[in-house]
Amino acid sequence: MLKKLLEEKKCFKLICGAGNENLEEVEKLVALYAKAGCRFFDLCASEEVLKSAQKGLDFAIPKDEQKDYHFCVSVGTENDPHFSKVTINSEKCKRCEKCIKICPQNAISQYFKVIEKNCIGCLKCQKACKHDAILTVRLNPHPTNSLLFTLYSLLSCIELHVSDETDAEEKWDYLCKNFDGMLSICIGRDKFSNERILSLIKRLVENREPYTMIIQADGSPMSGGEDDFNTTLQAVAMAELIQSANLPVYLTLSGGTNSKTAELAKLCGVDFRGVAVGSYARKIVKEYIKREDFWTNKAIFEETSKIAAELINSTLHHIEN
Ligand code: SF4
Ligand code: SF4
Repeated sequence: MLKKLLEEKKCFKLICGAGNENLEEVEKLVALYAKAGCRFFDLCASEEVLKSAQKGLDFAIPKDEQKDYHFCVSVGTENDPHFSKVTINSEKCKRCEKCIKICPQNAISQYFKVIEKNCIGCLKCQKACKHDAILTVRLNPHPTNSLLFTLYSLLSCIELHVSDETDAEEKWDYLCKNFDGMLSICIGRDKFSNERILSLIKRLVENREPYTMIIQADGSPMSGGEDDFNTTLQAVAMAELIQSANLPVYLTLSGGTNSKTAELAKLCGVDFRGVAVGSYARKIVKEYIKREDFWTNKAIFEETSKIAAELINSTLHHIEN
């Protein structure tokens, strides 16, 4: 059970990307990280993505040992940056290639077209473009979406990304009534004051039995942070704030852009149950994932899963000790 992972403080969650529909990449990431010891995977809310994740899991772990491996998908409030993709306005584009060079997902082709399935909406390209040629497209899975509803039986957890207070309670209420598993909220400090965060969280917690909910303290920005430590600092500050409220929830941290989140949280006295790692976890295995012999070259697979295992073990070490 997912609850057990959280109780035992062994909850390393690999974030494949809420908008990541690259089936091959998801399959490889899940296989690698499952082999390396990860048992919780955050995926795009799509049946095809879940099937690919299952294929990756089947590659790494025998069927009869998969009971304690868990899939989660995310839904968002309005304006959630996790669910953006981008397009390029060819009339404004000057073909400078800055966006191609900065994209962590190889999602922009040499013809300056966005490969939609690869785009995770990190918006790094948009920040790099000096010609205002990159537009954001919002795709926001709603919990009442019938397609998502059909996935509920495959999931241990659903996460609500709270970027906007207005519809958070309505969506949360729907999930509480319709989904039996663990619910999670992922919340950052960039849009809310401390008082507003705590008052919103307290209202959401009222709807749940004790310890059937995860609060994932997120960095700022919530998605697509640079590889510096600002997102980490924000996530730890957010976790401290939630901890101060003494709620019957499992507190976890988002540590997507580097490997230091767990260490810093420990130094700050935060009692957390797990860490969710996205862009950093994908980055350290990126070159291997691209290889054509990924599935057939056992030595490469083992070498890469060792890299993933180092991240998992160093993260869990800080939680457990
Ligand atoms: S950074 Fe902007 S102008 Fe440069 S290639 Fe990309 S979209 Fe075009
Ligand atoms: S940089 Fe980020 S938002 Fe831009 S195309 Fe690549 S993945 Fe998508």
